[in-house]
Amino acid sequence: MILDFRQFESFPAEIVLTGDSSSLNLDFQGLNELKSIQVDLHIQESAEEYFCQGTVNAIVNIECSRCLNGFDKEIECSIDFIACAESLHADVDEKDVLDTEDYAYFTGGDIQADISDILRQAIILSLSLKPLCSDDCQGLCSQCGINLNEQECSCVTEKIDPRWEGLKKLSKQTNENKEHS
Ligand SMILES: [Zn+2]
Ligand SMILES: [Zn+2]
Repeated sequence: MILDFRQFESFPAEIVLTGDSSSLNLDFQGLNELKSIQVDLHIQESAEEYFCQGTVNAIVNIECSRCLNGFDKEIECSIDFIACAESLHADVDEKDVLDTEDYAYFTGGDIQADISDILRQAIILSLSLKPLCSDDCQGLCSQCGINLNEQECSCVTEKIDPRWEGLKKLSKQTNENKEHS
């Protein structure tokens, strides 16, 4: 996704960028598809640098961590970055720990920047590690693998009380100790 600063007559400026699955090449485990994306930006200009702040709204199709079915999820996150010529930023001391800003550099000598990396990072960071299609997703049967949201199965899942499990181990150990002494 390219942000072209030449289109603005004055600053501060506002812009809305929209796109679809072809706008960003999102490669992330469990993420099936980026269905749509909208970026709302507020841009300030100062000494050849463009300060951009805004929000990203996206709809992604993602794999449920329990039942492994794909489902659509809405994502909203904020972005904050500076667009400038790379040569301008090269003067800044790289070791400056206070410099934690994200940068998008102008490409090919034009006053336009590819903000795809910034958008990708923002979306990936806002994805949860264990996405669920619904809070009460039943998941897959651990024995036959059936999707328990769609079907029931006749597997009997043995439920072992974890307290008894601990006792069993303990008595086994005591028996072993006796044998060795
Ligand atoms: Zn699920
Ligand atoms: Zn089953």
